[in-house]
Amino acid sequence: NKPPYKMGEIHPKPHAILLPYPLQGHVIPFVHLATKLASNGFIITFVNTESIHHQITKSRFQSNHHEEGGDIFSEARKSGLDIRYATVTDGFPLGFDRSLNHDQFFEGIVHVFPAHVDELVGKLVQSDPPVNCLVVDTFYVFSSSIAKKYNLVNISFWTELALVFSLYYHMDLLRKNGHYDHFDKREDIITYIPGVEAIKPSDMTSYLQTDPTTIVHRIIAKAFADVRKADFVVSNTIDELETQTISALQKNQPFYSIGPIFSSGFPTSSVATSMWSESDCAPWLDTKPEGSVLYVSFGSYAHTSKHDIVEIAHGLVLSQVNFVWVLRPDIVSSDETDYLPTGYDRLIEYCGLIVPWCSQISVLSHPAIGGFLTHCGWNSILESIWSNVPMICYPLLTDQFTNRKLVVEDFKIGVNLCDKRSITREEVAEKIKRLMCGKSSNDFRKEIKKVRKTLENALAIGGSSHKNLDRFVKDVKAKIR
Ligand code: UDP
Repeated sequence: NKPPYKMGEIHPKPHAILLPYPLQGHVIPFVHLATKLASNGFIITFVNTESIHHQITKSRFQSNHHEEGGDIFSEARKSGLDIRYATVTDGFPLGFDRSLNHDQFFEGIVHVFPAHVDELVGKLVQSDPPVNCLVVDTFYVFSSSIAKKYNLVNISFWTELALVFSLYYHMDLLRKNGHYDHFDKREDIITYIPGVEAIKPSDMTSYLQTDPTTIVHRIIAKAFADVRKADFVVSNTIDELETQTISALQKNQPFYSIGPIFSSGFPTSSVATSMWSESDCAPWLDTKPEGSVLYVSFGSYAHTSKHDIVEIAHGLVLSQVNFVWVLRPDIVSSDETDYLPTGYDRLIEYCGLIVPWCSQISVLSHPAIGGFLTHCGWNSILESIWSNVPMICYPLLTDQFTNRKLVVEDFKIGVNLCDKRSITREEVAEKIKRLMCGKSSNDFRKEIKKVRKTLENALAIGGSSHKNLDRFVKDVKAKIR
Protein backbone atom coordinates (compact mmCIF):
# COMPACT_ATOMS: atom_id res chain seq x y z
CA ASN A 1 0.00 0.00 0.00
CA LYS A 2 2.72 2.48 -0.89
CA PRO A 3 1.62 6.02 -1.79
CA PRO A 4 1.84 6.86 -5.50
CA TYR A 5 4.94 9.03 -4.92
CA LYS A 6 8.43 8.52 -3.53
CA MET A 7 9.99 10.25 -0.56
CA GLY A 8 11.36 13.60 -1.68
CA GLU A 9 8.89 13.91 -4.54
CA ILE A 10 6.40 16.73 -4.43
CA HIS A 11 3.01 15.64 -3.15
CA PRO A 12 0.14 17.71 -4.54
CA LYS A 13 -1.24 18.51 -1.11
CA PRO A 14 0.42 21.03 1.16
CA HIS A 15 1.33 19.38 4.46
CA ALA A 16 1.81 22.01 7.16
CA ILE A 17 3.09 21.84 10.70
CA LEU A 18 1.15 24.29 12.89
CA LEU A 19 2.90 25.43 16.04
CA PRO A 20 1.03 27.87 18.33
CA TYR A 21 2.60 29.90 21.12
CA PRO A 22 1.93 28.02 24.35
CA LEU A 23 -0.75 30.39 25.65
CA GLN A 24 -4.54 29.99 25.59
CA GLY A 25 -5.17 33.02 23.36
CA HIS A 26 -2.83 31.60 20.72
CA VAL A 27 -3.79 27.91 20.85
CA ILE A 28 -7.47 28.74 20.13
CA PRO A 29 -6.97 30.65 16.85
CA PHE A 30 -4.34 28.11 15.76
CA VAL A 31 -6.86 25.29 16.19
CA HIS A 32 -9.39 27.26 14.12
CA LEU A 33 -6.71 27.89 11.48
CA ALA A 34 -5.93 24.16 11.42
CA THR A 35 -9.53 23.22 10.64
CA LYS A 36 -9.79 26.05 8.11
CA LEU A 37 -6.67 24.98 6.23
CA ALA A 38 -7.60 21.29 6.44
CA SER A 39 -11.02 22.15 4.95
CA ASN A 40 -9.10 23.80 2.11
CA GLY A 41 -7.08 20.74 1.18
CA PHE A 42 -4.12 20.97 3.55
CA ILE A 43 -2.81 18.06 5.56
CA ILE A 44 -2.08 19.44 9.02
CA THR A 45 0.22 18.21 11.73
CA PHE A 46 -0.74 20.27 14.75
CA VAL A 47 1.89 20.52 17.47
CA ASN A 48 1.18 21.51 21.05
CA THR A 49 3.78 21.65 23.78
CA GLU A 50 3.47 18.68 26.13
CA SER A 51 2.51 21.07 28.90
CA ILE A 52 -0.38 22.61 26.92
CA HIS A 53 -1.50 19.17 25.78
CA HIS A 54 -1.51 17.91 29.33
CA GLN A 55 -3.47 20.93 30.57
CA ILE A 56 -6.11 20.71 27.81
CA THR A 57 -6.70 17.01 28.20
CA LYS A 58 -6.78 17.30 32.00
CA SER A 59 -9.39 20.07 31.91
CA ARG A 60 -11.42 18.16 29.33
CA PHE A 61 -11.37 15.15 31.58
CA GLN A 62 -12.54 17.26 34.53
CA SER A 63 -15.31 19.00 32.53
CA ASN A 64 -16.76 16.14 30.53
CA HIS A 65 -15.35 12.95 31.95
CA HIS A 66 -13.58 12.33 28.67
CA GLU A 67 -10.61 10.04 28.77
CA GLU A 68 -7.49 11.80 29.98
CA GLY A 69 -4.74 11.94 27.34
CA GLY A 70 -5.44 11.33 23.68
CA ASP A 71 -5.63 13.39 20.58
CA ILE A 72 -7.59 16.65 20.58
CA PHE A 73 -8.42 16.35 16.86
CA SER A 74 -9.97 12.87 16.91
CA GLU A 75 -13.50 14.28 16.49
CA ALA A 76 -12.47 16.66 13.67
CA ARG A 77 -10.93 13.72 11.80
CA LYS A 78 -14.26 11.92 11.79
CA SER A 79 -15.55 14.64 9.46
CA GLY A 80 -12.82 13.75 6.98
CA LEU A 81 -10.18 16.38 7.84
CA ASP A 82 -6.59 15.15 7.71
CA ILE A 83 -5.32 16.71 10.93
CA ARG A 84 -2.60 14.82 12.73
CA TYR A 85 -1.42 15.65 16.19
CA ALA A 86 1.98 15.70 17.89
CA THR A 87 3.48 17.15 21.04
CA VAL A 88 6.89 18.57 21.80
CA THR A 89 8.54 19.34 25.12
CA ASP A 90 9.19 22.99 25.93
CA GLY A 91 12.20 21.82 27.93
CA PHE A 92 10.57 22.16 31.36
CA PRO A 93 9.04 19.34 33.43
CA LEU A 94 5.23 19.15 33.46
CA GLY A 95 5.03 20.23 37.11
CA PHE A 96 7.02 23.45 36.49
CA ASP A 97 4.84 26.52 37.09
CA ARG A 98 5.26 28.42 33.82
CA SER A 99 3.10 31.35 34.84
CA LEU A 100 4.84 31.86 38.20
CA ASN A 101 8.33 31.47 36.69
CA HIS A 102 7.42 33.64 33.75
CA ASP A 103 10.92 34.96 32.85
CA GLN A 104 12.62 31.59 33.17
CA PHE A 105 9.93 30.06 30.99
CA PHE A 106 10.31 32.65 28.24
CA GLU A 107 14.12 32.32 28.35
CA GLY A 108 13.57 28.59 27.78
CA ILE A 109 11.24 29.28 24.86
CA VAL A 110 14.02 31.29 23.21
CA HIS A 111 17.06 29.20 24.12
CA VAL A 112 15.94 25.59 24.75
CA PHE A 113 12.67 25.07 22.89
CA PRO A 114 14.01 25.68 19.34
CA ALA A 115 16.26 22.58 19.52
CA HIS A 116 13.26 20.42 20.47
CA VAL A 117 11.19 21.88 17.63
CA ASP A 118 14.07 21.34 15.22
CA GLU A 119 14.30 17.69 16.24
CA LEU A 120 10.56 17.16 15.78
CA VAL A 121 10.47 18.92 12.41
CA GLY A 122 13.40 16.75 11.35
CA LYS A 123 11.22 13.70 12.01
CA LEU A 124 8.07 15.15 10.45
CA VAL A 125 9.74 15.99 7.15
CA GLN A 126 10.13 12.24 6.77
CA SER A 127 6.45 11.57 7.38
CA ASP A 128 4.07 10.41 4.70
CA PRO A 129 3.52 12.65 2.81
CA PRO A 130 6.47 14.80 3.85
CA VAL A 131 5.83 18.12 5.51
CA ASN A 132 6.44 21.07 3.20
CA CYS A 133 5.14 24.13 5.16
CA LEU A 134 5.84 25.50 8.60
CA VAL A 135 3.09 27.68 10.10
CA VAL A 136 4.49 29.21 13.23
CA ASP A 137 3.30 31.88 15.64
CA THR A 138 4.91 35.23 14.79
CA PHE A 139 6.20 35.50 18.36
CA TYR A 140 8.59 32.58 17.87
CA VAL A 141 12.11 33.68 17.06
CA PHE A 142 13.32 30.58 15.22
CA SER A 143 10.91 30.07 12.30
CA SER A 144 13.15 31.21 9.46
CA SER A 145 16.15 29.10 10.50
CA ILE A 146 14.11 25.90 10.83
CA ALA A 147 12.16 26.56 7.63
CA LYS A 148 15.42 27.16 5.78
CA LYS A 149 17.12 24.07 7.21
CA TYR A 150 14.32 21.76 6.06
CA ASN A 151 13.37 23.66 2.93
CA LEU A 152 9.85 24.44 4.12
CA VAL A 153 7.54 27.27 3.10
CA ASN A 154 7.80 29.72 6.01
CA ILE A 155 4.36 30.98 7.08
CA SER A 156 3.95 33.27 10.04
CA PHE A 157 0.58 33.37 11.78
CA TRP A 158 -0.18 36.66 13.49
CA THR A 159 -3.12 36.18 15.87
CA GLU A 160 -3.67 39.89 16.59
CA LEU A 161 -4.54 43.16 14.85
CA ALA A 162 -2.51 44.26 11.82
CA LEU A 163 -2.09 47.60 13.59
CA VAL A 164 -0.20 45.89 16.41
CA PHE A 165 1.91 43.98 13.89
CA SER A 166 2.72 47.25 12.17
CA LEU A 167 3.79 48.99 15.40
CA TYR A 168 6.18 46.17 16.28
CA TYR A 169 7.36 45.95 12.70
CA HIS A 170 8.33 49.63 12.83
CA MET A 171 9.90 49.55 16.28
CA ASP A 172 13.10 51.07 14.88
CA LEU A 173 11.17 53.97 13.41
CA LEU A 174 9.53 54.60 16.78
CA ARG A 175 12.95 54.50 18.40
CA LYS A 176 14.48 56.85 15.84
CA ASN A 177 11.67 59.35 16.37
CA GLY A 178 11.95 59.20 20.14
CA HIS A 179 8.63 57.47 20.89
CA TYR A 180 10.22 54.24 22.11
CA ASP A 181 13.36 53.32 24.05
CA HIS A 182 14.42 56.94 24.57
CA PHE A 183 15.54 58.71 27.74
CA ASP A 184 13.17 61.60 27.05
CA LYS A 185 10.25 59.87 25.35
CA ARG A 186 7.94 61.94 23.14
CA GLU A 187 4.28 61.98 24.07
CA ASP A 188 2.82 63.58 20.99
CA ILE A 189 0.74 61.73 18.42
CA ILE A 190 2.60 59.35 16.10
CA THR A 191 1.93 60.04 12.43
CA TYR A 192 4.85 58.46 10.58
CA ILE A 193 4.11 54.71 10.69
CA PRO A 194 3.23 53.57 7.15
CA GLY A 195 -0.51 52.91 6.91
CA VAL A 196 -1.25 54.28 10.38
CA GLU A 197 -2.81 57.71 10.15
CA ALA A 198 -2.32 58.65 13.78
CA ILE A 199 -1.91 56.85 17.07
CA LYS A 200 -1.35 58.15 20.62
CA PRO A 201 1.67 56.65 22.40
CA SER A 202 -0.72 55.49 25.15
CA ASP A 203 -2.59 53.40 22.55
CA MET A 204 0.51 51.44 21.62
CA THR A 205 1.02 47.97 23.05
CA SER A 206 2.33 48.05 26.61
CA TYR A 207 5.72 46.73 25.50
CA LEU A 208 6.24 49.76 23.28
CA GLN A 209 5.30 52.07 26.15
CA THR A 210 7.99 50.68 28.47
CA ASP A 211 11.77 50.49 28.16
CA PRO A 212 13.03 47.31 26.47
CA THR A 213 14.41 45.65 29.57
CA THR A 214 12.47 42.38 29.81
CA ILE A 215 12.80 39.02 28.11
CA VAL A 216 9.46 39.66 26.36
CA HIS A 217 10.90 42.84 24.80
CA ARG A 218 13.85 40.79 23.52
CA ILE A 219 11.52 38.13 22.13
CA ILE A 220 9.44 40.72 20.30
CA ALA A 221 12.51 42.40 18.79
CA LYS A 222 13.92 39.06 17.59
CA ALA A 223 10.57 37.79 16.36
CA PHE A 224 9.95 40.92 14.30
CA ALA A 225 13.41 40.67 12.78
CA ASP A 226 12.65 37.04 11.90
CA VAL A 227 9.16 37.59 10.48
CA ARG A 228 10.67 39.70 7.68
CA LYS A 229 12.04 36.45 6.29
CA ALA A 230 8.63 34.72 6.24
CA ASP A 231 7.29 33.78 2.80
CA PHE A 232 3.73 34.61 3.90
CA VAL A 233 2.02 36.22 6.88
CA VAL A 234 -1.57 35.30 7.69
CA SER A 235 -3.47 37.34 10.22
CA ASN A 236 -6.62 37.02 12.31
CA THR A 237 -7.92 40.39 11.15
CA ILE A 238 -10.27 41.67 8.47
CA ASP A 239 -9.34 43.93 5.53
CA GLU A 240 -12.32 46.25 6.04
CA LEU A 241 -11.35 46.95 9.66
CA GLU A 242 -7.79 48.00 8.89
CA THR A 243 -7.62 48.76 5.19
CA GLN A 244 -4.74 51.26 5.16
CA THR A 245 -2.58 49.44 7.65
CA ILE A 246 -2.93 46.14 5.81
CA SER A 247 -2.21 47.73 2.40
CA ALA A 248 0.97 49.26 3.80
CA LEU A 249 2.09 45.92 5.26
CA GLN A 250 1.44 44.19 1.95
CA LYS A 251 4.16 46.34 0.40
CA ASN A 252 6.73 44.53 2.58
CA GLN A 253 5.66 40.91 2.12
CA PRO A 254 2.54 38.87 1.28
CA PHE A 255 0.08 39.55 4.12
CA TYR A 256 -3.36 37.91 4.12
CA SER A 257 -6.16 38.89 6.51
CA ILE A 258 -8.39 35.87 6.87
CA GLY A 259 -10.22 36.66 10.10
CA PRO A 260 -12.21 36.26 12.11
CA ILE A 261 -10.67 32.80 12.28
CA PHE A 262 -13.42 30.77 13.89
CA SER A 263 -14.14 27.12 13.26
CA SER A 264 -16.94 26.84 10.76
CA GLY A 265 -19.52 26.14 13.42
CA PHE A 266 -18.80 29.01 15.84
CA PRO A 267 -19.56 29.06 18.70
CA THR A 268 -19.10 25.31 18.95
CA SER A 269 -15.97 23.47 17.98
CA SER A 270 -15.38 19.76 18.16
CA VAL A 271 -11.74 20.37 19.10
CA ALA A 272 -10.84 20.73 22.77
CA THR A 273 -8.88 23.91 23.39
CA SER A 274 -9.74 24.96 26.93
CA MET A 275 -6.82 24.87 29.33
CA TRP A 276 -9.00 24.94 32.43
CA SER A 277 -12.12 23.08 33.38
CA GLU A 278 -15.22 25.01 32.23
CA SER A 279 -18.05 25.82 34.64
CA ASP A 280 -21.46 25.53 33.03
CA CYS A 281 -23.13 28.96 33.29
CA ALA A 282 -26.14 28.11 31.10
CA PRO A 283 -28.56 26.97 33.85
CA TRP A 284 -28.01 30.25 35.72
CA LEU A 285 -28.14 32.39 32.57
CA ASP A 286 -31.37 30.67 31.50
CA THR A 287 -33.12 32.22 34.53
CA LYS A 288 -32.16 35.80 33.57
CA PRO A 289 -33.99 38.17 31.21
CA GLU A 290 -32.62 38.81 27.75
CA GLY A 291 -29.70 41.24 27.61
CA SER A 292 -29.68 41.75 31.38
CA VAL A 293 -26.35 40.11 32.27
CA LEU A 294 -22.88 41.64 32.11
CA TYR A 295 -20.14 39.11 31.38
CA VAL A 296 -16.84 40.00 33.09
CA SER A 297 -13.54 38.33 32.18
CA PHE A 298 -9.91 39.34 31.95
CA GLY A 299 -8.72 36.51 29.73
CA SER A 300 -6.30 33.72 30.42
CA TYR A 301 -3.14 35.49 31.26
CA ALA A 302 -3.28 39.09 32.51
CA HIS A 303 -3.14 39.97 36.19
CA THR A 304 -4.49 42.95 38.02
CA SER A 305 -4.36 44.53 41.48
CA LYS A 306 -6.47 43.78 44.51
CA HIS A 307 -7.54 47.44 44.52
CA ASP A 308 -9.08 47.13 41.04
CA ILE A 309 -10.79 43.83 41.83
CA VAL A 310 -12.38 45.32 44.94
CA GLU A 311 -13.58 48.44 43.09
CA ILE A 312 -14.99 46.35 40.25
CA ALA A 313 -16.70 44.05 42.78
CA HIS A 314 -18.41 47.01 44.45
CA GLY A 315 -19.15 48.69 41.11
CA LEU A 316 -20.96 45.58 39.90
CA VAL A 317 -23.21 45.63 42.95
CA LEU A 318 -23.81 49.39 42.72
CA SER A 319 -24.81 49.07 39.06
CA GLN A 320 -27.56 46.57 40.01
CA VAL A 321 -27.04 44.50 36.86
CA ASN A 322 -26.80 40.72 36.80
CA PHE A 323 -23.31 39.45 36.09
CA VAL A 324 -21.19 36.39 35.37
CA TRP A 325 -17.61 37.01 36.49
CA VAL A 326 -14.71 34.79 35.51
CA LEU A 327 -12.27 35.20 38.36
CA ARG A 328 -9.19 33.09 37.74
CA PRO A 329 -7.55 32.07 41.02
CA ASP A 330 -4.33 33.82 39.90
CA ILE A 331 -6.00 37.06 38.76
CA VAL A 332 -4.29 39.13 41.45
CA SER A 333 -0.56 39.17 40.91
CA SER A 334 0.37 38.92 44.59
CA ASP A 335 0.11 35.70 46.59
CA GLU A 336 -3.17 36.90 48.02
CA THR A 337 -6.17 34.76 47.14
CA ASP A 338 -8.67 36.39 49.47
CA TYR A 339 -9.27 39.53 47.45
CA LEU A 340 -13.06 39.89 47.36
CA PRO A 341 -14.80 42.08 49.97
CA THR A 342 -15.96 40.19 53.09
CA GLY A 343 -19.47 38.82 52.71
CA TYR A 344 -19.44 39.39 48.95
CA ASP A 345 -20.92 35.94 48.24
CA ARG A 346 -24.04 36.77 50.22
CA LEU A 347 -24.27 40.25 48.69
CA ILE A 348 -24.44 38.86 45.16
CA GLU A 349 -26.47 35.76 45.89
CA TYR A 350 -29.26 36.63 43.41
CA CYS A 351 -27.48 38.80 40.88
CA GLY A 352 -24.02 37.35 40.38
CA LEU A 353 -22.29 34.14 39.39
CA ILE A 354 -18.55 33.86 39.94
CA VAL A 355 -16.68 31.05 38.19
CA PRO A 356 -12.96 30.30 37.75
CA TRP A 357 -13.29 29.61 33.99
CA CYS A 358 -16.08 28.98 31.47
CA SER A 359 -16.69 28.43 27.78
CA GLN A 360 -16.58 32.11 26.87
CA ILE A 361 -18.08 31.68 23.43
CA SER A 362 -21.05 29.81 24.91
CA VAL A 363 -21.59 32.51 27.52
CA LEU A 364 -21.25 35.40 25.06
CA SER A 365 -23.72 33.85 22.68
CA HIS A 366 -26.35 33.29 25.39
CA PRO A 367 -29.35 35.63 24.92
CA ALA A 368 -29.15 36.81 28.55
CA ILE A 369 -25.80 38.50 27.94
CA GLY A 370 -26.03 42.25 27.26
CA GLY A 371 -22.47 43.50 27.81
CA PHE A 372 -18.89 42.38 28.30
CA LEU A 373 -16.40 43.95 30.71
CA THR A 374 -13.21 42.77 29.03
CA HIS A 375 -9.44 43.09 29.27
CA CYS A 376 -9.56 43.54 25.46
CA GLY A 377 -7.73 40.43 24.30
CA TRP A 378 -8.17 40.26 20.53
CA ASN A 379 -9.97 36.89 20.61
CA SER A 380 -12.37 38.22 23.22
CA ILE A 381 -13.13 41.28 21.12
CA LEU A 382 -13.80 39.22 17.98
CA GLU A 383 -16.01 36.82 19.94
CA SER A 384 -17.92 39.72 21.48
CA ILE A 385 -18.50 41.40 18.11
CA TRP A 386 -19.60 38.08 16.64
CA SER A 387 -22.14 37.77 19.48
CA ASN A 388 -23.32 41.41 19.09
CA VAL A 389 -22.26 42.20 22.67
CA PRO A 390 -20.88 45.75 23.31
CA MET A 391 -17.90 46.14 25.62
CA ILE A 392 -16.45 47.99 28.59
CA CYS A 393 -12.71 48.12 28.07
CA TYR A 394 -10.22 47.46 30.82
CA PRO A 395 -6.88 46.81 29.08
CA LEU A 396 -4.10 45.44 31.27
CA LEU A 397 -1.19 44.37 29.11
CA THR A 398 0.38 44.04 25.67
CA ASP A 399 -1.90 44.59 22.59
CA GLN A 400 -4.99 45.17 24.76
CA PHE A 401 -4.38 48.95 24.77
CA THR A 402 -4.32 49.10 20.98
CA ASN A 403 -7.38 46.84 20.69
CA ARG A 404 -9.23 49.16 23.08
CA LYS A 405 -8.66 52.10 20.72
CA LEU A 406 -10.46 50.23 17.94
CA VAL A 407 -13.42 49.31 20.13
CA VAL A 408 -13.93 52.70 21.78
CA GLU A 409 -12.63 55.27 19.33
CA ASP A 410 -12.83 53.75 15.87
CA PHE A 411 -15.88 51.45 16.00
CA LYS A 412 -17.75 53.07 18.93
CA ILE A 413 -18.90 49.71 20.23
CA GLY A 414 -17.72 50.20 23.78
CA VAL A 415 -16.57 52.51 26.57
CA ASN A 416 -13.45 52.78 28.70
CA LEU A 417 -13.84 51.44 32.22
CA CYS A 418 -12.12 54.45 33.70
CA ASP A 419 -11.00 57.71 32.20
CA LYS A 420 -8.39 58.37 34.84
CA ARG A 421 -5.57 56.15 36.10
CA SER A 422 -7.34 54.84 39.17
CA ILE A 423 -10.59 52.89 39.15
CA THR A 424 -13.44 53.89 41.45
CA ARG A 425 -16.55 51.82 42.15
CA GLU A 426 -18.81 54.76 41.25
CA GLU A 427 -17.24 55.08 37.82
CA VAL A 428 -17.45 51.31 37.28
CA ALA A 429 -21.19 51.41 38.07
CA GLU A 430 -21.70 54.46 35.85
CA LYS A 431 -19.94 52.81 32.87
CA ILE A 432 -21.92 49.61 33.30
CA LYS A 433 -25.18 51.56 33.21
CA ARG A 434 -24.02 53.50 30.16
CA LEU A 435 -23.30 50.22 28.38
CA MET A 436 -26.36 48.28 29.48
CA CYS A 437 -29.20 50.82 29.78
CA GLY A 438 -30.98 53.59 27.88
CA LYS A 439 -30.11 55.40 24.66
CA SER A 440 -26.32 54.96 24.90
CA SER A 441 -26.86 51.20 25.14
CA ASN A 442 -29.02 51.21 22.02
CA ASP A 443 -26.38 53.25 20.17
CA PHE A 444 -23.66 50.71 21.01
CA ARG A 445 -25.92 47.87 19.94
CA LYS A 446 -26.65 49.54 16.62
CA GLU A 447 -22.96 50.10 15.91
CA ILE A 448 -21.88 46.61 16.88
CA LYS A 449 -24.41 45.10 14.49
CA LYS A 450 -22.71 47.00 11.67
CA VAL A 451 -19.25 45.70 12.65
CA ARG A 452 -20.66 42.18 13.02
CA LYS A 453 -22.06 42.47 9.51
CA THR A 454 -18.62 43.48 8.23
CA LEU A 455 -17.14 40.33 9.78
CA GLU A 456 -19.94 38.19 8.42
CA ASN A 457 -19.53 39.62 4.91
CA ALA A 458 -15.76 39.06 5.05
CA LEU A 459 -16.28 35.36 5.79
CA ALA A 460 -19.04 34.84 3.22
CA ILE A 461 -18.25 33.40 -0.20
CA GLY A 462 -16.71 36.24 -2.20
CA GLY A 463 -16.01 38.25 0.98
CA SER A 464 -12.52 39.65 1.65
CA SER A 465 -11.34 37.00 4.15
CA HIS A 466 -12.79 34.20 2.04
CA LYS A 467 -11.02 35.50 -1.07
CA ASN A 468 -7.77 36.11 0.84
CA LEU A 469 -7.81 32.54 2.14
CA ASP A 470 -8.32 31.19 -1.38
CA ARG A 471 -5.47 33.34 -2.64
CA PHE A 472 -3.26 32.24 0.24
CA VAL A 473 -3.91 28.55 -0.44
CA LYS A 474 -3.16 29.05 -4.14
CA ASP A 475 0.04 31.00 -3.43
CA VAL A 476 1.30 28.40 -0.94
CA LYS A 477 0.66 25.59 -3.42
CA ALA A 478 2.52 27.53 -6.12
CA LYS A 479 5.45 28.04 -3.75
CA ILE A 480 5.67 24.31 -2.95
CA ARG A 481 5.78 23.21 -6.55
N1 UDP B 1 -11.68 32.12 27.36
C1 UDP B 1 -12.50 31.08 27.72
N2 UDP B 1 -13.01 31.06 28.98
C2 UDP B 1 -12.78 32.04 29.89
C3 UDP B 1 -11.96 33.11 29.51
C4 UDP B 1 -11.43 33.12 28.22
O1 UDP B 1 -12.78 30.17 26.93
O2 UDP B 1 -13.28 31.91 31.02
C5 UDP B 1 -11.13 32.12 25.99
C6 UDP B 1 -11.74 33.22 25.16
O3 UDP B 1 -12.91 32.74 24.52
C7 UDP B 1 -10.62 33.58 24.19
C8 UDP B 1 -9.35 33.19 24.92
O4 UDP B 1 -9.74 32.41 26.04
O5 UDP B 1 -10.75 32.83 23.00
C9 UDP B 1 -8.60 34.39 25.46
O6 UDP B 1 -7.98 35.05 24.42
P1 UDP B 1 -7.85 36.62 24.39
O7 UDP B 1 -7.10 36.98 23.17
O8 UDP B 1 -9.18 37.25 24.54
O9 UDP B 1 -7.05 36.98 25.70
P2 UDP B 1 -5.70 36.41 26.38
O10 UDP B 1 -6.12 35.31 27.28
O11 UDP B 1 -4.79 35.94 25.27
O12 UDP B 1 -5.18 37.58 27.12
